[in-house]
Amino acid sequence: MINSKQNYTVEILFQERQIQKKIFEVSSKVSQDYKDKDLVIVAVLNGSFIFCADLVRNLDVRCSIDFIQVSSYVGTQSQGKMQVISGFKEDLTGKDVLIVEDIVDTGITLDFLISEISSKKPNSIKACVFLDKKCARKKEVPVNYSCFEMGNDFVVGYGLDYSGFFRQLPYVGRIKEFGK
Ligand code: 5GP
Repeated sequence: MINSKQNYTVEILFQERQIQKKIFEVSSKVSQDYKDKDLVIVAVLNGSFIFCADLVRNLDVRCSIDFIQVSSYVGTQSQGKMQVISGFKEDLTGKDVLIVEDIVDTGITLDFLISEISSKKPNSIKACVFLDKKCARKKEVPVNYSCFEMGNDFVVGYGLDYSGFFRQLPYVGRIKEFGK
């Protein structure tokens, strides 16, 4: 556990400028692909709040935005058991749904979200993720847009937390603790 009295450093993996450049590129692709569609963005809380805010502000296409909150993690370990904390409000029937996720790790969360959304009979479902930990997959899930692929590290920043901390960092990195 990290608390405010501990010293730590964050080893940066993705710099703020690099992130913003990539998001602009991904947003441009999404705008192109959804030009004539009925786009509903479903942002997965809490982790995707910063990514989604930057992504949608770069979009050049009409869309509505909804939110879902699910949880499978305690500390740095996936529990593999999904819980819906707060569901979406939009009627997704016939809509083109784009799930916006902070990170895909085992794929269990995205797999669960896809089956939840499928039951609402949308016209299409795609996933746009900020970080893709491809090497950690337990479920095969489609990732249609991703900003960065990464290894099997636990990272924080740009919306991603460790025990509620570090979400506000404008970059992504690994925590290095010292001076305990
Ligand atoms: P999955 O179900 O794919 O294993 O995990 C998805 C969720 O796990 C993400 O939405 C995120 O909340 C959490 N998660 C997975 N890897 C990391 C990580 O490296 N850092 C943080 N902060 N959360 C992670």
